Amino acid sequence: MSDPKNFINGAWTSSVDGGTLDVFEPATGAVIGQIVDSSQADVDAAVKAARDAFDTGAWGKTTAIERGRILQRFGDLILRDADRLAECEARDTGKPVTVARNDIIALARYFEFYGGAADKLHGETVPYLAGYTVTVIPEPHGVTGHILPWNYPAQMFGRTLAPALAVGNATVLKPAEDACATALLLAELATEAGFPAGAINVITGRGAASGAALAAHPGVDFMSFTGSPEVGQIIQKLCADHYITCTLELGGKSPQIVFADADLDAAVPVIVKAITQNSGQTCSAGSRLLVERSIYDAVVARLSEAFGKVRVGAPEADLDCGPIITAKQKTRVLGFIERAKAAGVQVLAEGQIAEGAPAEGFYVKPTLFGPTPRDSEIAREEVFGPVLVALPFDDEDDAIRLANDTDYGLVAAVWTRDGARQMRLGRKVRTGQLFVNCYGAGAGIELPFGGAGKSGHGREKGFAALHDFSKTKTTVFNHG
Ligand code: ADP
Repeated sequence: MSDPKNFINGAWTSSVDGGTLDVFEPATGAVIGQIVDSSQADVDAAVKAARDAFDTGAWGKTTAIERGRILQRFGDLILRDADRLAECEARDTGKPVTVARNDIIALARYFEFYGGAADKLHGETVPYLAGYTVTVIPEPHGVTGHILPWNYPAQMFGRTLAPALAVGNATVLKPAEDACATALLLAELATEAGFPAGAINVITGRGAASGAALAAHPGVDFMSFTGSPEVGQIIQKLCADHYITCTLELGGKSPQIVFADADLDAAVPVIVKAITQNSGQTCSAGSRLLVERSIYDAVVARLSEAFGKVRVGAPEADLDCGPIITAKQKTRVLGFIERAKAAGVQVLAEGQIAEGAPAEGFYVKPTLFGPTPRDSEIAREEVFGPVLVALPFDDEDDAIRLANDTDYGLVAAVWTRDGARQMRLGRKVRTGQLFVNCYGAGAGIELPFGGAGKSGHGREKGFAALHDFSKTKTTVFNHG
């Protein structure tokens, strides 16, 4: 990446102003390259390419069947190139190599799923007055803008672009400045799959510059954003300024609710994985453990033992967790841990940083706190690191109150063998997804995903995403 470029209109394109940013390797802290720091002029070029592709170019003329085939071919090429893509993703994000490979498999699955769905988004006819026929047809928005976070760069590329493209939108993607290498490789691979010039444009750079310019651009018809609640608000306001809507996925403080009748052999390993997966840098991480008081001591004892065995290391060591993405994020996560300790919250267990992990890498020990005061910062704020807080509850009503006592509402899990209780919690817990006796952080491309409150709005994944990435047109025929 010695000569950084954007991918615009089917070609590698130098930035207009020549600005660049350094790329850091999370495992070592070393600078390993540069990316373009796009300016307004670069964003203008990318939006124009998408606009032309949609309005007059080959992409706007494709049928749903053709789009489906191109998406599925892209999925096949991603699987063909899985090794090199996984290697790139692991180096760029610090993920263990097996995790990075699984992310690439999931990325391919997005294009497979939405390729298959492209010609299955049907309209409807509506009964109306005598002598009339009414059709309601889903149409693409036109140009969609996509701003990605750095935690799952490859998966997010598929999650947001595959449904938008399946519907027929032309896209401009700005990956996070801390992790964009895989998106750039994918943009080029998309051309081999048959996407015409301008259907997928990738520009890199800082959020406050090129990200804001994209969301504010009058040539963009819809925005998809995944990231922090603070930036989500900024995006929504920028969209409102030019009368467009957006999907926002902004994270969570998702509860794992464990009742006294739960199957703990099944629950404990899942609970550990749900917070240590991707070093806790997962919007849907299960970061609050709510345990019925009668089994609280037994559960935290088992979890402490499991936490103590979690190992953190460089990608190639292929352990349970890799480093945190940047020095800044590491400092932020450690800040939460130190403030909780200073406030007197007890550390129950810590994982281990493996011998040989480079000293300058951004490693953080997975940490289990408990019992955690309900109003403490660590119990309420999203840490976005491998930190689990345990809180006891008294009965079912208390569990529901505690589960909903959060500004977020993305994912929740309930662990109980009582079927009626499963149904009651299913109705009463405020969340976009509820898992019963299982947990699926990031899983399930087929499953609609999105939140309430500070977790955002709109849905990605599943067929729901096809609806969000389209708008309906109603046509009334008077034929007498
Ligand atoms: P995090 O705090 O986890 O890094 P952010 O919400 O800051 O998450 O970043 C997510 C994405 O939003 C990144 O691609 C980033 O460049 C972008 N971004 C950050 N600030 C802005 C902004 N003011 N306008 C538009 N995009 C932004």
